[in-house]
Amino acid sequence: MNIILFGPPGAGKGTQSKYLVNKLNAFQISTGDLLREEIQKETDVGKTIINDMNDGKFISDEIVNKLIEKFVYDPEKKNKLIFDGYPRSLSQAKNLEVLLKNSNQNIDLILFLNVKKEIILKRLEKRKILENRSDDDSDTIIRRYETYMETTQPVLDFYSENSNFKQIDGSLEIDEITRKIDTFINV
Ligand code: AMP
Repeated sequence: MNIILFGPPGAGKGTQSKYLVNKLNAFQISTGDLLREEIQKETDVGKTIINDMNDGKFISDEIVNKLIEKFVYDPEKKNKLIFDGYPRSLSQAKNLEVLLKNSNQNIDLILFLNVKKEIILKRLEKRKILENRSDDDSDTIIRRYETYMETTQPVLDFYSENSNFKQIDGSLEIDEITRKIDTFINV
């Protein structure tokens, strides 16, 4: 199965992606992790994006699209892709459609973890303390949420018509969310 996990920062996409990776013997594609890796390795891309990442700004579609391409085209990962944090804009969603079509794949499940702003802000404040992420300071947290709302709403509209689109209340406990996901993947 190829699965997209969709939802605001702090919705639990990372946690549920890891669950799905184990359960389905699949591969997580977290664009946030890939971008952080570029920064850590001090690549050209890393140097270009470091300030925007720290400010919680959206990274250009061009950069992000390029980063995921090799995973989608990797025959070992075919039909075992868990997208975490991608696509986040309409242009990315359309790019993904093309890459999947070119490699004879589909999206089997689009999971939207829907969580209210107040809960997200509380969770991210907590994560800031636990993970010490440089983009988790209070102003950046709010900016990341707002950026998400602005850029991602068209993606939500785009996918909500799809018969594989499922919405889950992301404010539930982790285990409860996992149980709901299980009902959609039937394995
Ligand atoms: P995340 O780890 O998914 O919360 O992403 C952390 C940051 O990486 C975001 O605030 C953005 O700056 C950037 N980012 C991650 N994924 C994307 C994407 N698909 N498109 C643009 N920027 C992204």
